[in-house]
Amino acid sequence: MTTLSINAERLLGRLCDLGQIGRDGDGRLVRLAGSDSDKAGRDAVVAWIRSAGVEVTVDRIGNIFGIWRTADNADEAPILLGSHIDTVIDAGIYDGCYGVLSGLEVIETLKAAGYAPARPVAVAAFTNEEGVRYAPDMMGSLVYAGGLPVEEALATVGTDGAVLGAELERIGYAGSEEPSLIRPHAYVELHIEQGPVLEREGVPIGAVENLQGISWQRITIKGEANHAGTTPMSMRRDAGHAAARVVTFLRDRARNANTPTVATVGCMSFEPNAINVIPSRATFTVDLRDPDEQRLQTEEAVLAAYLEELAAAEEVTISVERLARFEPVTFDRGIVELVEEASRKRGLASKRMTSGAGHDAQMIARIAPSAMIFVPSLDGISHNPREHTPDADLVAGANILLDVTATLAAR
Ligand SMILES: [Zn+2]
Repeated sequence: MTTLSINAERLLGRLCDLGQIGRDGDGRLVRLAGSDSDKAGRDAVVAWIRSAGVEVTVDRIGNIFGIWRTADNADEAPILLGSHIDTVIDAGIYDGCYGVLSGLEVIETLKAAGYAPARPVAVAAFTNEEGVRYAPDMMGSLVYAGGLPVEEALATVGTDGAVLGAELERIGYAGSEEPSLIRPHAYVELHIEQGPVLEREGVPIGAVENLQGISWQRITIKGEANHAGTTPMSMRRDAGHAAARVVTFLRDRARNANTPTVATVGCMSFEPNAINVIPSRATFTVDLRDPDEQRLQTEEAVLAAYLEELAAAEEVTISVERLARFEPVTFDRGIVELVEEASRKRGLASKRMTSGAGHDAQMIARIAPSAMIFVPSLDGISHNPREHTPDADLVAGANILLDVTATLAAR
């Protein structure tokens, strides 16, 4: 199998074509889940799957599966490849689409070569990975893995008031199959890194061995509004200042810890939000991530203790609301080693790494051995029209996916 390679021109051509579907009036790429442009993107992907002579199945949450079975392997659990084709607003063309189209490319390549795998090979495009219009993100794969009841997901109301189930009906992608219909033997997701590490180190292939845990909290600090000119500094209960102390506390701690912990305060608002009034209320979010569950719990506890101390010192009251929590995921070691071995055989350097972002693979890992392959992102940029991966890296990544799939499907 080592001499077999994917059709680079076909893969790169489709990636560009799909990237032109769902452009708004300003030329921005916007394919939010369940929208008209999502339908157009799905239609293109389904047409390409069918043109490869592969059957298409859509489940009740709108996940699309292209399943290549032969008469000899039809009863075996498939090797599943895939990702998502929904996007953020003003997106790049690679995030998600690269994994879906490469999965199809692998199937077409194996099929055309007359390869007779012991297992079916399937490609999936999971619904609403980005979570821009409907929360939570990674919804299609979460439902697929049994982590969210399909009825509950279909009843989700979008940011524009539209219900997901009705939108899937409207665009023709409310399938009839139960999301649990296809149980994979293994899952491999090829994706752009969305970070700067591979490019900076000049390594073309990331063998992703784990994915960070994520903790999201919303913190509200209540102090007392008062006159900015007449209230002495010693007599203030300044919610804004207390919030600022949390921001610097988190940054200093994460920077000095010499661990992979990252901490971010991305949203903050003050009340009454006036130039001459001491803030009576500050509301902000905390995003904590770490690949180690124990350490993530420790960081959460350290923050909680700091908030208690701060409330006493600043004479404010502090309340915390948990918004989201995902434990870190460890991917399947055997598949990670296959990625490294395939890279070696093709003369490509690879590097074990942690995914800093969430992906469908973290959901599928609940039900099947899973792993991810990363390729470099120029300047580490994603969720942005400047998102870019050089063609040679895209082709190299797809060839590694081909080799790993061929090995897994032979077992
Ligand atoms: Zn993605």
